Amino acid sequence: MRYYDAVVMGAGPGGCMAARSLSDAGFTVVLLERERLPREKTCGGFVSPQAASLVEEAFGPIPTDCLASPRTVRGARLLCEGGGTYELPFPGTGLAVLRSRLDAHLATGCGAEVMDGCEVKDFQVERFHVTARIARDGREEMVEATYLIAADGAESMALRLLRPEFHRLYAVPHLERTMLVLCGGELDWDPEWMGLVLMQKGMGIARFFIRGDLIGLSVNHDAARGWRDELAGLTAFLEGRVGLRLGGEAMRQISASNRMAVGGHFNLGAGCALLVGEAAGLLDPWGFGIRLALQSGRVAAESLAESAGERITPHIRYRYRMQEILERELKQRRDLSGMVGDLDAASLAADRSRITRRDRRALRRRFSR
Ligand SMILES: Cc1cc2nc3c(=O)[nH]c(=O)nc-3n(C[C@H](O)[C@H](O)[C@H](O)COP(=O)(O)OP(=O)(O)OC[C@H]3O[C@@H](n4cnc5c(N)ncnc54)[C@H](O)[C@@H]3O)c2cc1C
Repeated sequence: MRYYDAVVMGAGPGGCMAARSLSDAGFTVVLLERERLPREKTCGGFVSPQAASLVEEAFGPIPTDCLASPRTVRGARLLCEGGGTYELPFPGTGLAVLRSRLDAHLATGCGAEVMDGCEVKDFQVERFHVTARIARDGREEMVEATYLIAADGAESMALRLLRPEFHRLYAVPHLERTMLVLCGGELDWDPEWMGLVLMQKGMGIARFFIRGDLIGLSVNHDAARGWRDELAGLTAFLEGRVGLRLGGEAMRQISASNRMAVGGHFNLGAGCALLVGEAAGLLDPWGFGIRLALQSGRVAAESLAESAGERITPHIRYRYRMQEILERELKQRRDLSGMVGDLDAASLAADRSRITRRDRRALRRRFSR
């Protein structure tokens, strides 16, 4: 049995940032990642300027081999089937990254002991004591720590174990499957912008982007509504709107997004076990999650370090410190003006036309249900 001050579960941006901040505060930390690094993460790789600054403050400049082509990105353009097109810029210049490389770079530089190919199967949390059962190379062992930070993503096992009732009521119903198809082809689109598409009968907001020679198309789906119909709808729409022509063999990546925050249902954990990133429901309404994962990873680690030795469990301080961020996120969803998540939605607020009023209503529905 090995003993650490903190166990961090999941080597995405949330987990790596938490591990980095805890190591900086002098904690002994182990970062446990189920996959072998570098691992694939289904993602557009658009890193907002705030997220890029968070990475650079904690890990130094992002190496060029983690960047995609083109390296800089400017935000998103929203195309609504109802007719409207809106520019939603980042508040500055963002970066386009290759997630597998960026996440591996963050894990390598996080200052913790990193165990990849190591799945947390189960854990138990008592007051100031965590025991995790892990599986690695076909063997099981136990790891003990004082604290747990769980950053295990959209389908968080930690959320299910820590808050089973919340998980059943809010996380399960709001889990959306995502299919990303990467394919050759052409379209009339500036690769520095991510494309967001709001279809009248589609499942939420679909995305498209250009990465090097490939076009990425991602659609949401569930058991009732298969991804093929959604993808056919998106492709037909983009053929008409931006001249999309697909060609060559397609690669598919399946993933999930956790939209439980639509009704304000975040969950930051309990006692000595804190949830960060998508495990906590932290995803902005457009589906961008890297900034919130980094922010919450850092705040969780700082809250934990601040409350160490005080005999109060750290989730109270974590909740208190996250309150302002969460309230801001919820207000932005309701107001739909100024910054909304990572994007500046002023163009949506400024346009008073009938089409825009209808598009805003459709977006509000999406952001609140
Ligand atoms: C199609 C698509 C496109 C997207 N594009 C963007 C974008 O352009 N910009 C943006 O900001 N966001 C984007 N997102 C969202 C973004 O990818 C996520 O919000 C972000 O990665 C969340 O970070 P995280 O650290 O919370 O979790 P993750 O990055 O999901 O990391 C969780 C980690 O935990 C590990 N793990 C899970 N269970 C266990 C276990 N039991 N034991 C050990 N390890 C475990 C997983 O293997 C994984 O490595 C996109 C999402 C999708 C689906």
